[in-house]
Amino acid sequence: MRALCWEGVGKLAVRDVPDPKIRAEGDLIVRVRASSVCGSDLHLINGYLPAMREGDILGHEFMGEVVEVGPGVRQHRVGDRVVVGSVVACGGCWYCRTEQYSLCDNSNPQPVFTEKLWGHSPAGILGYSHAAGGYAGSHAEYIRVPFGDVGAFGVPEGVPDDSVVFASDAMPTGWMAADFCGLTGGEVVAVWGAGGVGQMAARSAQLLGAERVIMIDRFPDRLATAAERVGVETINYAETDVLEALRELTGGRGPDACIEAVGMESHDVGPTYAYDRVKQSARLQTDRPTSVRQAIMACRKGGTVSIVGVYAGLIDKFPLGAAMNKALVLRMGQMHAQRYIPMLLDRLAAGEIDPGYLATHPIPLEQGARGYELFEKKQDGCLRSVLHP
Ligand code: NAD
Ligand code: ZN
Repeated sequence: MRALCWEGVGKLAVRDVPDPKIRAEGDLIVRVRASSVCGSDLHLINGYLPAMREGDILGHEFMGEVVEVGPGVRQHRVGDRVVVGSVVACGGCWYCRTEQYSLCDNSNPQPVFTEKLWGHSPAGILGYSHAAGGYAGSHAEYIRVPFGDVGAFGVPEGVPDDSVVFASDAMPTGWMAADFCGLTGGEVVAVWGAGGVGQMAARSAQLLGAERVIMIDRFPDRLATAAERVGVETINYAETDVLEALRELTGGRGPDACIEAVGMESHDVGPTYAYDRVKQSARLQTDRPTSVRQAIMACRKGGTVSIVGVYAGLIDKFPLGAAMNKALVLRMGQMHAQRYIPMLLDRLAAGEIDPGYLATHPIPLEQGARGYELFEKKQDGCLRSVLHP
């Protein structure tokens, strides 16, 4: 089959690779119909998470059709149209039973460097390097989905491929970011990063009761889309002092909750090509205000900072003093896809969230590298390229 592979830092190519096979009784083989790019791929492509190997297949946000089922699969049949959570989870361990799927104990065999760097290993993620299980990704004609009964969900009729594909990752991530804010109604929420994740977080915050959402980015077209589609207020951080603007917009108090949906590139640490470089990244930090630091500094006293942007090593001068003395709640993590997807599919079918507008650039798999170029440079209004094998 054809697949979009990583060929070294910054290099992608579509290659012929062997078709995936059923390897465990719970496996599904899915013929991919739509597979989106995600901000997380940029960390991998550019070497910020140094566990990629030449030939690894990228992609973790996807939907498609079941073409083969392992003997232990109960929930799915050949021909089912499914969307698959990017996180791989066994469904049976203590973490999965408590719905903390991205911390699953049984889906990340032989992780590279994680125990040493982080103390424990989190769950596997499809197409997300050898730090996350080394699973082949979805930018391909076919993909093997382990623990298919846990990770794949039937798609409601009438929801288009290029919309439901975001139930795989951007929607649950955005929902979790807002969920972590503990909203009870009437809050002001600020969101750093107007990408797919930030925009889904903004919409989720509204649905969970936020009265106002303020979005921060530097790309005017992304901010304009978020204002039009989601109804957020906007701050362009390239033109405006973000902390001052947030103070002004909230009568001096600061947002009740701050969501960070940016990730490590905003922190000027430089790519960390190897484990040693990750360790050294603390030394590369600057005093430049960055999204995590701004979120902590901006948040009102006693508020919540929810981080879903991805971080790998020691990054940023972390203002722990501000967090401590303002009694902030800090929450973060890879999203627990399986906890949120069924509820989000209901909301998608009911039209409460419509992520379809994120698919600005549908593109053939063969042009996958171009899809990433548009996405990375935020060219031509690209919010997400969706690859079609
Ligand atoms: P994206 O690249 O489309 O969007 C990121 C946005 O952040 C860009 O528009 C960029 O201009 C903006 N940005 C950069 N520096 C900023 C700053 N200092 N202040 C405000 N905005 C800034 O990416 P995406 O697909 O929306 O993903 C966003 C982040 O979420 C990434 O780090 C990604 O890895 C992460 N993510 C996490 C999970 C999870 O499970 N936690 C899942 C998916 C994605
Ligand atoms: Zn588990």
